[in-house]
Amino acid sequence: MGGLAAGCALDSLVPEVPAWSENDARRYLLGFCWSNYQRYCPRCRGRKIARLPDDRWRCRRCRYPFHDFSGRWINRGNLSCSRWLQLVRLFAADLLTIEISARLDLAYNTAYKAVLTLRQAITARCGDADGNGDPARARVYARLLAEGKPEREEGRDGDSHVFGIREEDGRVRVRVLPLIRPSTVFCLSVKKVRRAGVTYTDRFADYDALIFCSRQAADGEAEKPGRRKVHLDTTAGFWPYLREKLVKHRGITPERFPLYLKELEFRYNHRNEDLFPTLVRYLCEFMPSRQALPAADTPAGPEATGPRALGPEQGSPVARPSPQPPPPAPGKSCGT
Ligand SMILES: [Zn+2]
Repeated sequence: MGGLAAGCALDSLVPEVPAWSENDARRYLLGFCWSNYQRYCPRCRGRKIARLPDDRWRCRRCRYPFHDFSGRWINRGNLSCSRWLQLVRLFAADLLTIEISARLDLAYNTAYKAVLTLRQAITARCGDADGNGDPARARVYARLLAEGKPEREEGRDGDSHVFGIREEDGRVRVRVLPLIRPSTVFCLSVKKVRRAGVTYTDRFADYDALIFCSRQAADGEAEKPGRRKVHLDTTAGFWPYLREKLVKHRGITPERFPLYLKELEFRYNHRNEDLFPTLVRYLCEFMPSRQALPAADTPAGPEATGPRALGPEQGSPVARPSPQPPPPAPGKSCGT
């Protein structure tokens, strides 16, 4: 990767944001969408397609009309290609949404929606987003990946999902545990700590900790920073990393916590890498369909993409060479 993406994994570095030309940015993104720019029908994967007058395509087999970004994460929102690349660049550098909004002179809601899309694209690539055979887990992810702001689930205790954290050999695994509610955790005899709305436990079953974000603590449980220690507190690794990020964000709501946790899992496991090309690749992937989702991080192409096959482990090595980023210059719509 050239100088465009160099160093963007460093939190403290606020990168220059090149003004890519719209044509260059679009071509760069298309390189991630279509292997060798060979298009096929996203619905039936047929290769016999006809070009329509409005820059769209129509499948000759199933008659489905589509454009270059149909069905992909990048199609959510209304950003031009060059804007998307700039935003990904700043997101990779871990700027807050409000900072991204200011740097790019975007409305906050527009920047927020784009950042949400990136977090969903990251979550879709985690190892268990297809539920791993567990329908309850699959339903949780389906809600997390649905379009629109995460909604508060009224009437559910703590309106939050519980995750299990396990770190091994410098890599962390964060799994949603759909059958465990916050109220269940409060009742467990395991030691718990609650800070800034986040409750985490001592070791439990196969996990280093259970963790969730909720508005309410258990009855009578006050936040007691520094007075309790559990396994996470005494181990360098993911938890200090997560805690620092939560402080930076000045807390987070239970609705946003799951996707944010998955984002931090991704960042932590790629902490020594340049995130930009990986994030662009995720952004250009098909959103998961509601049908059964296979698992395999196979090279992009008709057999590998289509309404997206979810990979087993986010951050698997890039399966094919990334397109080279476009040179800087001035930009319009992605044609979405
Ligand atoms: Zn088709």
